[in-house]
Amino acid sequence: MVVVMQPQATEEQKEHVRETIHALDCKSRDIQGDAITIICVIGNTLALTPQQFEILPGVDQVQRIQKPFKLVSREVQPHKTSFKVGDVTIGGNEITIISGPCSVESREQFRTAALAVKASGARIVRGGAFKPRTSPYSFQGLGEEGLKIMAEISEEIGLPTISEVMEPEMVPMVSEYIDILQIGARNMQNYPLLNAIGHSHRPAMLKRGLSATIEEMLLAAEYILAGGNHNVILCERGIRTFETWTRNTLDISAVPVLQKVTHLPVFIDPSHGTGYADYVAPVSRAAVAVGADGLMIEMHPTPERALSDGEQSLTPEALSALIPELRRVAQAVNRVIV
Ligand code: PEP
Ligand code: MN
Repeated sequence: MVVVMQPQATEEQKEHVRETIHALDCKSRDIQGDAITIICVIGNTLALTPQQFEILPGVDQVQRIQKPFKLVSREVQPHKTSFKVGDVTIGGNEITIISGPCSVESREQFRTAALAVKASGARIVRGGAFKPRTSPYSFQGLGEEGLKIMAEISEEIGLPTISEVMEPEMVPMVSEYIDILQIGARNMQNYPLLNAIGHSHRPAMLKRGLSATIEEMLLAAEYILAGGNHNVILCERGIRTFETWTRNTLDISAVPVLQKVTHLPVFIDPSHGTGYADYVAPVSRAAVAVGADGLMIEMHPTPERALSDGEQSLTPEALSALIPELRRVAQAVNRVIV
């Protein structure tokens, strides 16, 4: 971190900055220019905030040199993280397709959906049992009953599962039934939840918050890794912008940015990212082309009757038609979809 002093800063003000740095167990070193002095802060600056120095008299600006996260960073771990969930490898050369309904609605609905996921070639089945709905009057999910259905069907058809967990207290219970714990966009900065998942033995998928910056997402992931859980997937699922013709604005450039700074696998959710089934296939092709390690695509046996997110859900036929296309795009960028 460097503290840039104002040109008219007095010696006393500079000395006050140095004393503050030393009081925070860091060392200071001056760089003297013609007109201005820059005071470098050396030590564990991760624990400091620029604001601690910005408020001091005579300070013009403060800049971080080191990134504010470490465990998620490529500087700490240059090779990409990859891990296995059942017999599926996440984060390797293979691109992982997750699909299934937004919500588990009944045993019959989820079983039909899961069989269609398997038939399509996707490797992991999704389903929401605890649903964070914008309106309290919307379908809230089947709760633990939905997780039981997922576990049973997963056992029957042999696909690993992913489902959202909304509260820290529920992490152990959801972990009993489900292979990957999903942290929804609305909970990306729920720090007690991130801490609880950090102490869990289950891999996690962290979805980008509705208005979260890439740095905020990386810092949220840092919480999970700091707790000891290193198997974390980051998922870009669109952010809030002024645009209304799509549900969210999918930040496709987040993929190469994240691939550059972090070793964690990066996924795209084209369903919440666009909000409309018509746009899911083109954006999925783009996701593979841009270097995503996986996709999470909503699919419902009868989207017109879905209890949540039907308008953005593919039919089983559309999912089955999409995956061979994605295989061809993957081949063009030296990746594979099994
Ligand atoms: C979901 O995946 O069903 C979901 C609720 O997504 P998000 O948290 O990204 O809105
Ligand atoms: Mn959904």
